[in-house]
Amino acid sequence: MSEGTPRNFYDLVFTALENHQNWFANSIPLIASENVPSPAVREAIISDFGNRYAEGWAGERVYAGCTYIDQVELICMDLAKRLFGAEFADVRPVSGVNANLTVYSAFTDPGDIMMALAIPNGGHISAARKEFNGTAGLVHGLNVEYFVFDRDNWNIDVDKTKEKVKKLEEEGKKPKMAMFGGSLFLFPHPVKELADFLKGEGIIVCYDSAHVSGLIAGGQFQAPLKEGADAMTLSTHKTLFGPQGGTVLSWVKYAEKIKAGAFPGTQSNHHLHHMAGKAVAFAEFLEFGEEYAKQVITNAQALGQALSDEGVDVLASNLGFTQSHQLAVNITKYGLGGDLEKDLEKANIILNRQLIPGDVQAGRHYQNPGGLRIGTSEITRLGMKREEMKVIASLMARIIVKKEDPARVKKEVEDMRKSYQNVHFAFEPNTPAYKYIHVK
Ligand SMILES: *Cc1c(COP(=O)(O)O)cnc(C)c1O
Repeated sequence: MSEGTPRNFYDLVFTALENHQNWFANSIPLIASENVPSPAVREAIISDFGNRYAEGWAGERVYAGCTYIDQVELICMDLAKRLFGAEFADVRPVSGVNANLTVYSAFTDPGDIMMALAIPNGGHISAARKEFNGTAGLVHGLNVEYFVFDRDNWNIDVDKTKEKVKKLEEEGKKPKMAMFGGSLFLFPHPVKELADFLKGEGIIVCYDSAHVSGLIAGGQFQAPLKEGADAMTLSTHKTLFGPQGGTVLSWVKYAEKIKAGAFPGTQSNHHLHHMAGKAVAFAEFLEFGEEYAKQVITNAQALGQALSDEGVDVLASNLGFTQSHQLAVNITKYGLGGDLEKDLEKANIILNRQLIPGDVQAGRHYQNPGGLRIGTSEITRLGMKREEMKVIASLMARIIVKKEDPARVKKEVEDMRKSYQNVHFAFEPNTPAYKYIHVK
């Protein structure tokens, strides 16, 4: 790679981009944090908005030239509020992590204590301790205490969490904020059950819906703001239809704090092309989101059952596997998560390994843990339904259980994918999902 003219490298970049897109057009994409945007969203994100500056709030910018940017951003905020039943939306955070940093900055000071989920129980690195390089600890100086987690029920233990908060208070370690939500997120969290208690103790209640925001917007998961949350954060590209980005939703009484947290607190210019992409995606979701979210969850439950029928140990089977877009699998009967992730990738089945409860005790670590995580957002956007879940489970089992040659399975994956090339749940429904668009 060290030899070659600038032109060679320039050409290599485009070859890689096109190869990547062709690969995904021939694969089964099961990464729970990913989705595929419509060509309409892609049109928005290659617009000139991406080359401009618009620091500040729409209508009160620090830069000239923002007439149309303001128009789009006002639409974007309006759609976000409608989707989530919020009084206030800040659509500027450029990612879910940035949205979390925005609320940390709005509601807490360095040195404060935040309650969150531990990573082996599904927590995300952005709400983790400094010793793990977690954003909350490393960047905002928060001390993280964990919700008590009940592994039999795959959820936060309400009574034990209350006891823990009381005990922390007795020790002079009163939390300032509680952050619900997580990355391995199978069942709705007990926001309703805990919000009054937490707020009664003077604790700000936030909800990180990075993964489940589309399910919430589609009315198929819990509604955190209605259940008592003071604010919620999200990523726009996991179960929603957006390009990569973040958003914060809340109440008017917190608007000024959150605005300052987003700008100038944690970023200067937001990414205006992605903001436009979010506006398009929010409009699509208002129109098609309910039907989509229902199908995503139906597919996740059907895939859980089908994998289980193939002999794979899908976690939370006693609870119906999942109420979200995700499944967690204990793969230790057949190998380890890192190795199987690679074998599946060779067969064009793309998912990721997952730390599951019990891994740490067994001495397994993130590189090669005992689990896999599977998501159904993208395959649902491609039009797949219940029947297709059985086909996918059987293709996966041929790698995981029967240890067939991945190259052979890959051919069948490619054949299967031929019928699912378009983006569904979109205003222009017959448009190809991964077509490489030449602009230059
Ligand atoms: C994915 C995720 C994030 C981070 O979102 P980005 O948009 O990738 O920055 C934050 N919180 C949780 C719980 C997540 O799963």
